[in-house]
Formats: sequence, structure tokens, C-alpha cells
Amino acid sequence: MRLILIGPPGSGKGTQAKLLSQRRGLRHLSTGDILRESILRDTAEGKLAAPYVSTGRLVPDDIVNETVNSRFRAPDRPTCFIMDGYPRTVPQAQSFDAVLHAAGLNLDGVIFLKVPDDEIVSRLGGRWNCPNPKCGATYHTHFKPPKRIGICDTCGTRLMQRDDDRPETIKKRLQIFHGFYDDLVEHYRKGGLLIEVPGMGDIEAIYGKIEKALGALKTK
Ligand code: AMP
Repeated sequence: MRLILIGPPGSGKGTQAKLLSQRRGLRHLSTGDILRESILRDTAEGKLAAPYVSTGRLVPDDIVNETVNSRFRAPDRPTCFIMDGYPRTVPQAQSFDAVLHAAGLNLDGVIFLKVPDDEIVSRLGGRWNCPNPKCGATYHTHFKPPKRIGICDTCGTRLMQRDDDRPETIKKRLQIFHGFYDDLVEHYRKGGLLIEVPGMGDIEAIYGKIEKALGALKTK
């Protein structure tokens, strides 16, 4: 199956994409994860992307398109996949359409996780991560607090907040999302691929709604 998952930052895209990947055997491609890793490794791509990612702005289309295109040109290119956080703009969607067409691959659906803005601000503002690369545990002040405030339960490292999860950056990310997503959603609605799923409630309940919608699709 070939899917795209779109939704505002903090809508649970990453969590649902991981579940779909594990349970349906799909390759999980998250442009956010790829870019963060490139920044950590200080690669040429990372150097270009860093000023955008740290301030919550979209990385320019040509950079992120090349990040994705290079993976679809590689000999081990994904054939069954879940895209997480890409495409985010119509030019990215058009570039991805062309890449898939050239590879002879069709999309099965585009899942749109809908979550209200005030819920997003509360979810993202409470996220804390363990910066130890061997651990990487994640916490949330409301939903999954660490046993000791600010300290990782697993390895004892001081927890950190992603630069782009700070309140002023969250507001900017939401504005950016709303500026682009209407057109993106329309692009896939016109293509008959859009599947809207409410992203509120617990993780398994949302996953169940996604599976139900996918069950109604004809798979290729
Ligand atoms: P995410 O983990 O998907 O929330 O992405 C984190 C950050 O990476 C975003 O705020 C952008 O700066 C950058 N990013 C990820 N995917 C894209 C994309 N498709 N287009 C532009 N920027 C992106």
C-alpha cells in the first residue's frame, strides 16, 4: 500500500505513521526525521535545512523534494510506504506525483488527520525529549510525565524541548500549516485520494478509524 499522512504539526502523524508502518509493513518516510538527522550529522543538506527547522519554517521545496526524490531514485527505493510530513505544499505534491509516475507507482490514499489548533498548542508545548542519541525517549507534561521533572526515566539525562516546540514557534508552524494546507488538501481531493480522519482521542482509537477508512479502499 502507498499512503501519505498529512495534518498539522502535533496531530499525531508520526505516531500513526509508525503504527501503519509496523502493522502493514510499510516503509516510513518522515522528512522531519530525515532533516533532523542531517542537521545532527551536519551534512550539506543539514546545513541548508537547519535555519528553517529551528525556527519552524518550511524548508524550501527544492531542498526537500531532492531529499525525497533521491530515495525514490535509489536501487532500494520504497514501493510500499507511508509518507509522514511530505508533501506539505502543492509544488511538493506535484514533484512527488511526477516521481511516483516515473517509478510506475500509484498512491492508494492521502489520510488527513484533523485536529483543532488549541489542542495542538497544548500537545506540542508539553513535549520533552531525551537528547541522548542512544535513548531518545519522549515525554509529555500532561500525557506521559517523567518520574522526576526534567529527567529521563530510562537513562537519567536532562530532558530538552525541541527548538520548534517552543510556544512562539508553535504558533508560527500553525500559521504556516494553514497557509498551505487548503491548497494541498484540494490537490488530493481533486485526485479522489483524500481520506479525512478526526485526530482526537486515544492513539488506538484514531488508528482504528484510519484502518476502517483504509479497509474501504481498493488496494493496488
Ligand atoms: P515535522 O517533524 O514533520 O514536524 O517537521 C519538522 C520541521 O522540518 C518542519 O517544521 C520544517 O521545518 C521541516 N520539514 C519537514 N518536512 C518538510 C516538508 N515536507 N517541507 C518543508 N519543510 C519540512
